[in-house]
Amino acid sequence: MEQSPASGDRVSALETIIDVAELGTWIWNVQTGETEFNEYWARMLGYTLDELGPTSIETWLDVLNDEDRPVSERALSAHFEGRASVYDCEVRLYHRDGRLIWVRDFGRVVSWTSDGLPEWVSGAHLDITSHKDLEQSLRAESEANRELVQTLERAQEIGNLGYWKANPGTGYLYWSKKVFEIFGVCSETFVPSVDVFRAFVHPDDLALVDAREAQARQAGLFDVEHRIIRPDGTVRWVQERGDYTPHGNNQLFIGTVRDITEQKEQEARLRELSLTDPLTHIHNRRVFMERLTGSYELFHRRGIPTAVIMLDIDHFKAVNDTYGHGVGDAVIKRVAQTLTDGVRESDVPCRIGGEEFGLLLPGTEIAEARELAERLRSEIAEQSYALDQRGTLRITLTVGISVFLEQDEHPEQALQRADAALYQGKANGRNRVVART
Ligand code: GH3
Ligand code: MG
Ligand code: MG
Repeated sequence: MEQSPASGDRVSALETIIDVAELGTWIWNVQTGETEFNEYWARMLGYTLDELGPTSIETWLDVLNDEDRPVSERALSAHFEGRASVYDCEVRLYHRDGRLIWVRDFGRVVSWTSDGLPEWVSGAHLDITSHKDLEQSLRAESEANRELVQTLERAQEIGNLGYWKANPGTGYLYWSKKVFEIFGVCSETFVPSVDVFRAFVHPDDLALVDAREAQARQAGLFDVEHRIIRPDGTVRWVQERGDYTPHGNNQLFIGTVRDITEQKEQEARLRELSLTDPLTHIHNRRVFMERLTGSYELFHRRGIPTAVIMLDIDHFKAVNDTYGHGVGDAVIKRVAQTLTDGVRESDVPCRIGGEEFGLLLPGTEIAEARELAERLRSEIAEQSYALDQRGTLRITLTVGISVFLEQDEHPEQALQRADAALYQGKANGRNRVVART
């Protein structure tokens, strides 16, 4: 037969529960200051109850950290004045060994005096030091993380480098702040995804980006330079470098992106410079030789004819000697301009060197080339240069022409024939067009 425990047993059961729950309990008479604590309360602070002697509210005030006294007082007033149903606060207490421990302190008024003042209040202290330590280390950790993120953001600002993370399987794409900037969109409102990124890629570069992505799946490294079109229509060059890491079924690309538009423009300017004659701004000998080879291949593979024309100013040395180098330069420039104006877009006038020009006419047979050369020759011959005080200057050109022939074994053979024709024209009295096939 079950028997309910006697009243005394109930009290000791309750004390056991409080003890194993590690609760420090207190009962305080607000009016007299009389205060009692349980054994665990003393132990929590490194004492026995006996060592603390007769206890009162002073015992509490002695161990309470001064800084936290107002915290406790505010919580008490809130409860006593009915603004809070319980007294509840977190304060620090001095342990016997000098360190501070954190406790959560909570309680409630048990009885009131006849004139409505709080009389007996009881409550408990729960040691929350380990919680506080954990909270502190989490805060420190998240602070360290925040600092790391700030350092990264700063570094990408300095290096002009954005970073991204993509999962092509799910379409997920993370962009760092810098990437939004490079792509010309707002980081607050714009939501990136793999599809959205693809929509940015210049249509002419999409196949390249896809090919490099496929390569990265094999080799692990993603490296591509391509153009993007920003929402405002501007085209920018970017360089992407990434790393492919398959995590089971999850494929992950992690990479960086850099705006290389200025660098690309600089490269294009340098390349243009290396192909342009500085005096006349038409193509130089290098372009002429490149195009000559290209046309030669087209002739041999597809039978497309190309006329090769060499032009040389007659007695130019005398121009320099008589009128000075400046006049000589002006003549060279005007001849270059006349050639450029007098040919089709697909024709290639070049300054081979000195007062010598080359002209390639793709798709042109020798008869048509002769007509054009004749027209250019007479145009130049009719031009006159006004020289203040010294009258006017006229110059002439001698022109040699050839075309590629079936039996040619290298592109320079047509050039040599044109040169020989030019030499013959000089020998025959200059200011003439000579063809040699
Ligand atoms: P020919 O009728 O036989 O062609 O006689 P030419 O005097 O034109 O022939 P030559 O090749 O002996 O002389 C070419 C001159 O062109 C020599 C050189 O000083 C001059 N020359 C070369 N480059 C430049 C230049 O950039 N500016 C000027 N003003 N003169 C140049
Ligand atoms: Mg000459
Ligand atoms: Mg010459």
